[in-house]
Amino acid sequence: MKKLFTALFITIITSNTSLFTWGQIGHRVVGDIAQKYLDPIVLKKVNTLLEGRDLAMVSNWCDHIKSFKKHDHTFWWHFVNVEDGKRYSEVTHNKNGDIVEAIQRFSKQLANDKLSFQKRHEALKWLVHLLGDIHQPLHVGYAKDQGGNLISVKWFGKKSNLHAVWDEGIINHQELSYTELSKLINFTNVEQLKKLQNSDVNVWLNEGMKLRKRVYDLKSKELSYAYQAHNVEFLNSQLLKAGIRLAGLLNKVLK
Ligand SMILES: [Zn+2]
Repeated sequence: MKKLFTALFITIITSNTSLFTWGQIGHRVVGDIAQKYLDPIVLKKVNTLLEGRDLAMVSNWCDHIKSFKKHDHTFWWHFVNVEDGKRYSEVTHNKNGDIVEAIQRFSKQLANDKLSFQKRHEALKWLVHLLGDIHQPLHVGYAKDQGGNLISVKWFGKKSNLHAVWDEGIINHQELSYTELSKLINFTNVEQLKKLQNSDVNVWLNEGMKLRKRVYDLKSKELSYAYQAHNVEFLNSQLLKAGIRLAGLLNKVLK
């Protein structure tokens, strides 16, 4: 059984590198929005740590490295499985880590200026990526269907699965570049900004769990205009929240 489980996950890791992740556009939108809310002094530090790249540019690195075997152990850091009615503190924690543990770990590493440049450079790239992932409701998923990856659906007539619809389908159907999408959805006010940034990873996780009800509300397995229309604004608001909260976290950690 253990062998089967290991084999299954090796197959998953090697056969589909986009299994647990927003698509590229989603992650870039989160980075692009966050960049606009950085304190000037933090922006300078970010520029130094990323050697001039911006947050959008580095936001997909954590997915790209999945293609290399030496990074297989990072697979687990992109998500966590929590069943309905349970709290994060009550689940059996994966010894390889999970998204909550990884966000906390990389926040500490980024804050520690005694660590090497390379370590903090990578910690920053991980945070940009994982703040995006934790706002995708299926990254706080159910183990039984691997965060919606095992729920086969048709998306506008093509074979897909529920996870992919939320990673990419609804975003791509808007037919916007990442800069167009981030410009379109980036509006907030001071009060909302404070409220969003005054929260931590446990709040983000609990929000994700509550949102699953909406995600799994499938009238049929043939999804198209109605599912898109019902969820698009809601998904965009998750991207905005992720961007604003990423900026809040970096402003705190790098101040
Ligand atoms: Zn990811």
